[in-house]
Amino acid sequence: MAGIRDLYQILGVSNDASAEDIRKAYRQLARELHPDVSADPSTEVRFKEVTAAYEILSDPAKRQQYDRYGGSGGSGEMPFGDVADLFEAFFGGGGFGTRRRPARRTRTHRGDDIFAAASLTFHEAAFGAHRELQVERMRICERCTGTGAAPGSMPTRCRTCGGSGQMQDVRRSIFGTVMTAHPCIACEGTGEEIVDRCPDCGGDGRVPRSDVVTVEVPPGVSDGLELRVQSAGHAGRAGGSPGDLYLSLQVSDDPIFERRGQDVFAVLEVPMVQASLGAQLDVETLDGVERVELDPGTESGTVVRLRGQGVPNLGRRGRGDLFLTIQVQTPKDLNKVERELLEELAKLRGEAAGKRAVVRAALRRPS
Ligand SMILES: [Zn+2]
Ligand SMILES: [Zn+2]
Repeated sequence: MAGIRDLYQILGVSNDASAEDIRKAYRQLARELHPDVSADPSTEVRFKEVTAAYEILSDPAKRQQYDRYGGSGGSGEMPFGDVADLFEAFFGGGGFGTRRRPARRTRTHRGDDIFAAASLTFHEAAFGAHRELQVERMRICERCTGTGAAPGSMPTRCRTCGGSGQMQDVRRSIFGTVMTAHPCIACEGTGEEIVDRCPDCGGDGRVPRSDVVTVEVPPGVSDGLELRVQSAGHAGRAGGSPGDLYLSLQVSDDPIFERRGQDVFAVLEVPMVQASLGAQLDVETLDGVERVELDPGTESGTVVRLRGQGVPNLGRRGRGDLFLTIQVQTPKDLNKVERELLEELAKLRGEAAGKRAVVRAALRRPS
């Protein structure tokens, strides 16, 4: 366990030191380290450490507990971060050191978040969308303006917790008394008690309402993304801030375009003759019709990159690219004239072709 030093080491005595040895060691150290004697702030910390160690080791029962649960050379399973924690466990969070843990405040009653989902098309995700969501949520009660008290009355201090919103829990453990805090059950941590409840909200200060929340989905979002609409969740209680609305986005696949990040991929099929002779191709991209120049002799697998024609970056300038992979189509279902033309071509090029043609073909390494 990091952070804590062995109590015997702190006093500079051995583990089997007698009560008298421990007392002597402490007195010696206390004389050297006492804040009245030394002005060095680091010795003050050391003094507190020494005092805490002595408090534990000078008490036979506590020493026995320490030896059993927290001693050096043991399992190392000491449940304390440092000496202050150890002291707190032994003495119930009393006055040791400057390191008292602040009690957790539970008075802010932030409203709960609301979780909703929206489906978007590929194009909506790419270029943004507008959604109007029907949301059932708690809003501030207009009759009592959120206090929960009937008009003309005011909330009073909770009698159970005295207005602090929390209750102290005192627990005895093997290390002594341990104090913990939990929210007051009577006022649910608000610290307020409402005697005369508002008839509209029954004292909650909020009423359920069905609202339309408008969400502008920015360009460039992707599937699985959660949009946070600040303060669009449930209203808070007792002056707490409202929760948020989280909108989980589901983006449907597009039949043509495949998205990877902000880049978009598609296959551009071109007939064999066009691939061989070249052509100007008008292609329907994300931004409308775009002219793609196909060089003569274009091979299958050639990738045409249209820069800046992918999906816009989310929350910043620029766009991904559009990648078109050329796939050369082999003509099928040839009629008689077409077949004769291709056979003529094959003859001209000295390339044997046809079902019965036996050709010696070479392999090459994939690139
Ligand atoms: Zn209370
Ligand atoms: Zn009300």
